Amino acid sequence: MLFGSRKIVLIFLTLLPLVLCAQQDFADVEIQIHDVAENIYMLEGAGGNIGVCIGGDGVLMIDSQYGPLSDKIKAAIQTLSEAEINVLVNTHHHGDHTGGNENFGKEGAQIVAHQNVKERMSNVQKSAFRPEIPAAPEAARPVMTYTDEMEIRYNNQDIMLIHVDHAHTDGDGLVYFPESDVIHMGDTYFNHRYPYIDLGSGGSIDGIIEAANTALFLAGNNTKIIPGHGPLSNAEELREYRDVLMHLRREVAEAIKESKTLEEIQAMKPGAATDEGWGAAFINGDRIIEIIYKSLAEE
Ligand SMILES: [Zn+2]
Repeated sequence: MLFGSRKIVLIFLTLLPLVLCAQQDFADVEIQIHDVAENIYMLEGAGGNIGVCIGGDGVLMIDSQYGPLSDKIKAAIQTLSEAEINVLVNTHHHGDHTGGNENFGKEGAQIVAHQNVKERMSNVQKSAFRPEIPAAPEAARPVMTYTDEMEIRYNNQDIMLIHVDHAHTDGDGLVYFPESDVIHMGDTYFNHRYPYIDLGSGGSIDGIIEAANTALFLAGNNTKIIPGHGPLSNAEELREYRDVLMHLRREVAEAIKESKTLEEIQAMKPGAATDEGWGAAFINGDRIIEIIYKSLAEE
């Protein structure tokens, strides 16, 4: 009996830091507002960067981070505009970009995304990090979808949603504001970090390089680029990201041709020049090589 209760206490003490950490994560998060262009802002909190466009029609937001942050996000947006959040565009289906969808959807935001985002959110999803993710509640799912492109006229400007195929997932959309010269790239772009490519959800190395090329085709020297993760960016930094990925892809493809194994390729350190900085966060040097290797093997 004594042994039993000790064991329970021990398990509890082992789990406690995890539980506290998970709760504190959101309690400690502050939403930071960055100016992007006139009436366009980038919000940083936890999860994917949010884009906000304010004006006479109301508020259009791009991505919604995690559900527990919705009140803080709303409070931050209210310092910019008292108008309603009418439109919520999702760049893709991942929970760190759509976790707040249900809260904003219930308050009247029309959710817009690629068809595959709706498809994935409406069904049980497999995840590389969790055994299974249940289907999102009805209010969290997109109500308007597109397959290749969609144009929204809102706040006196054209907002273009452009699908980039098999990039970070199979449902990515770039959000382009031609008049304001701003592009939100969702998770097709991790600024100065190796990207996570969700191969299980239809992502691929060639698609993510192609997504960068599409954005570079639209962008000029002064274009403001909002990455899915990392600080506000520009075409020069995006070009560097594209080139790093192309270099790694070339090295891995070359080694595969020479029948090298994944472990042998990782030992060659193809990313030696960038691993330290670019691999310091979520995806390290070995992991990006593994992702590229598996992506090329799938082709
Ligand atoms: Zn993502």
